[in-house]
Amino acid sequence: MSVRAGIIVTGTEVLTGRIADQNGPWLSDQLLALGVDVAHITICGDRPADLTAQLRFLADQGVDLIVTSGGLGPTADDLTVATVAEFCDRELLLDPELEDHIADIIRRFRPHIPDLDAGPTRVGIRKQAQIPVGASAVPPTGTAPGVVIPAVAGDRPVPTIVILPGPPGELQAMWHSAVASPPVAEVLSRAADLRQDTVRAYGLHEAQLAETLRHADTEIADLDRLEITTCLRHGELDMVTRYTTRDADIYRHLLAVLTDHHGDRIFSTDGSTIDDQLIDALDGRSIATAESCTGGLIAARLTARPGSSAYVMGGVVSYSNDAKSDLLDVPADMIAAHGAVSEQVAAAMAEGARRRLGTDVAVSTTGIAGPGGGTAEKPVGTVCFGVSIDGRPTYTVTRRFPGDRERVRTLTTTAALHLVVAQLERQ
Ligand code: ATP
Ligand code: MG
Repeated sequence: MSVRAGIIVTGTEVLTGRIADQNGPWLSDQLLALGVDVAHITICGDRPADLTAQLRFLADQGVDLIVTSGGLGPTADDLTVATVAEFCDRELLLDPELEDHIADIIRRFRPHIPDLDAGPTRVGIRKQAQIPVGASAVPPTGTAPGVVIPAVAGDRPVPTIVILPGPPGELQAMWHSAVASPPVAEVLSRAADLRQDTVRAYGLHEAQLAETLRHADTEIADLDRLEITTCLRHGELDMVTRYTTRDADIYRHLLAVLTDHHGDRIFSTDGSTIDDQLIDALDGRSIATAESCTGGLIAARLTARPGSSAYVMGGVVSYSNDAKSDLLDVPADMIAAHGAVSEQVAAAMAEGARRRLGTDVAVSTTGIAGPGGGTAEKPVGTVCFGVSIDGRPTYTVTRRFPGDRERVRTLTTTAALHLVVAQLERQ
């Protein structure tokens, strides 16, 4: 039997989209790794009645565990603990030890507060030190402690509930002690050994994959024991499969069928991304970028990774023709003869970047992201790429991408990484 969980993300700022929810996906990932099937992530604002409704909904779904995020602060609008306590029909009690602990933390963080016993600070500390009867506190990493409330069986059973603060850093730091608390550990001990594996393909259409999966279904017995989801992202097709470890052979069989059909399109079966593979493919070599239509997106992607200063030397955003000539030594008459969007210019840009920045490898993009600027010969979405690798002739290619400006730019960025990896892997 699988263990199911629900996650409730609270906070009007998340509900309105002013900040993007980080806690729901993070908790979902953690629970999955523990073999828990996350059935729902719900989001509500700061109104207690809405939180109660979501607790009711999840409890009625029969989940074994509910995790909430947010609303644990010292101010009056932070009502999660009181609302959950009322839902569980448990009184709130002041925990004097917890009160001292929170006061100590505040003294350490804010030594300028002269007297904690006076005024709103003490009121806030008292509020945060209230724990429902029978529940246990999760030690705070900020000032807000979390709470774990054990499940109650009966006519209207209440699942185990974990209450965590909203700031993602605090929530993540407190998660491990929440998981170790006896009521949560008991729930997790019933969880199956779930696995999740990802296959990534580039240049494969969803329809082609669907066709292969239909074929696999006729060939592999019990394929429906695997939970397969596919997701198209930035031109890559991810297939994520969840299964219990006893069904590992079925997954292996599926993988064999997939590689048989699409071996040339599948670039990863171990979860690694093209960004990971680029680092392996570089194998100590340095890289630079020369970007026109991507405006620095490739450099941003390369440098998103900690430690990238070891191999990313720099990049040039050469948007105008003059910048291409002045910063990358692309001859002006080459641009005049072939146009800025041409493989000749792409090659010269990559070679210029490699020379100017003194790297082993350089990649370039020059294209028409749209919506204007397209011609019959070079419509919107046309992009020329160059990959220059020390000691080899420069590789160039022209691709045409669908979609609006944003989409053309993201698809171009992903394509550039794939092209670099493909060229580096060619002997
Ligand atoms: P605090 O003591 O900081 O008020 P809290 O537990 O009451 O903590 P919230 O008031 O809900 O938490 O959120 C505080 C801040 O934490 C938010 O303004 C936001 O910046 C961040 N935060 C909260 N929830 C999320 C979330 N789901 N995803 C990302 N950031 C969040
Ligand atoms: Mg708050």
